[in-house]
Amino acid sequence: MSAGGDIVIVGAGQAGFQAAASLREGGFDGSLTIVGDESVARYQRPPLSKAYLAGQASGESLALRPARFYADHRIAIRLGIRATAVDRAARRVAVASGEPLAYDHLILATGARNRPLAVPGADLQGVLQLRTLAEADAVRRSLTGRERIVVVGAGFIGLEVAAAAAARGIAVTVVETAERVMARAVSRPISAFFRTAHEAAGIRFVLGAGVERIAGRGGRVAAVETADGRSLAADLVLVGIGVVPNVDLAAAAGLPVADGILVDHRLLTSDPSISAIGDCAAFPSPFAGNAPTRIESVQNAVDQARCVAARLTGRAAPYGALPWFWSDQGRVKLQIAGLATPHDLAVTRGDPASGAFSVFRYREERLVAVESVNRPADHMVARRLIAQRAPLPAGQAADPAFDLRALVGHAAAA
Ligand code: FAD
Ligand code: NAD
Repeated sequence: MSAGGDIVIVGAGQAGFQAAASLREGGFDGSLTIVGDESVARYQRPPLSKAYLAGQASGESLALRPARFYADHRIAIRLGIRATAVDRAARRVAVASGEPLAYDHLILATGARNRPLAVPGADLQGVLQLRTLAEADAVRRSLTGRERIVVVGAGFIGLEVAAAAAARGIAVTVVETAERVMARAVSRPISAFFRTAHEAAGIRFVLGAGVERIAGRGGRVAAVETADGRSLAADLVLVGIGVVPNVDLAAAAGLPVADGILVDHRLLTSDPSISAIGDCAAFPSPFAGNAPTRIESVQNAVDQARCVAARLTGRAAPYGALPWFWSDQGRVKLQIAGLATPHDLAVTRGDPASGAFSVFRYREERLVAVESVNRPADHMVARRLIAQRAPLPAGQAADPAFDLRALVGHAAAA
């Protein structure tokens, strides 16, 4: 496509916003419309379970750009409106209110939604989830005056909310089906460290246990009952059991979907006029042997948006950005570079007892991921080492006297 034409972006989240901004930066001069079903202006989600929840960040600080950014860049932003269908033959997107939107290229950036907890009592008052600003406001309000919260799910959201609640003096119990915390994302040593750190802050864990039912009193939550027969008293329940990608629009339009809208290495769907990016897209990741991979992170949303914008403004390149993640839980900062599963060797650099260490994970002797706890310098080096596929023997990674930065310089020069 030339630098003109009509581009429609469905989803006014991190990826949708970035695609519009990068298209203008790249010189796209045609019409640009974002349709988003949330009614508030574009905001970042990460602080919702961190500084914003703790009351340390204002609503305004969540905005990515001032409101006038859209007008200044001729980006028509239609909020509170849902895209309901894509007519691929006519190249039009139907919306819940108003005329259909014609496109030369359509970018699906529909993100993901929280997985609901499908047990009796999940609809009781005081059972909350957290994805949107509106939900964060509800959680923030609801924490006031509570004595006992049960968090269902020991993933990123669950543990970040648990840490924030414990810091306010609320008794927190976390129920998790897996045998360890953040099992989807991190290695065993990191799980063990975070469990211990959270326990030291007073958080209690019930691991390897599913939720059978949520019991109520007068329409409000009173206890969480686990499959192994426990009843955990609660005056608030936060459910953080993962997300499901929003693929319905794409599927109804006949585009291939699995766990995500399937795209190729250019982030194109099977229709050359439609791309998909961010949490909703499953792409062949070079960091996962090119298997279809869906990544739920800001880095991925932003870099995929930039990749598609570059293609649409004449600078096409395959998507190959290194995945990286972070999580702030209480005073502990976790940073992850790369994709770790499956791995066959993990070595530790630094002493977990000191509260600052990294785990280097290997697959077939190649470094594939590094998880750093309170060691930001390791993380920054790791991002370059993995991206450059620099050889780093496990013995050197584990040796605190070995200078990793020298290796980065060496790999760059080679
Ligand atoms: P989304 O942000 O979900 O945006 C998609 C938008 O599209 C949504 O507004 C959705 O309502 C809208 N939409 C969907 N369907 C339609 C339709 N048919 N019509 C119109 N609009 C539609 N990641 C990190 O890397 N680090 C973190 O610390 C971190 N913390 C997080 C904390 C929280 C509380 C949450 C919820 C997420 C966090 N994430 C974090 C994940 C990160 O925010 C997501 O990966 C990122 O927002 C994905 O961006 P996206 O644009 O693909 O999807
Ligand atoms: P998650 O997938 O990270 O964790 C969900 C956890 O819930 C898993 O540990 C899983 O085993 C557990 N679980 C699933 N079903 C359960 C059940 N019935 N009972 C008990 N436990 C159950 O997802 P999340 O923490 O809900 O986060 C949602 C989204 O927000 C994800 O996309 C995540 O990446 C994103 N997020 C990211 C960050 C970050 O990167 N720092 C922070 C917050 C949220």
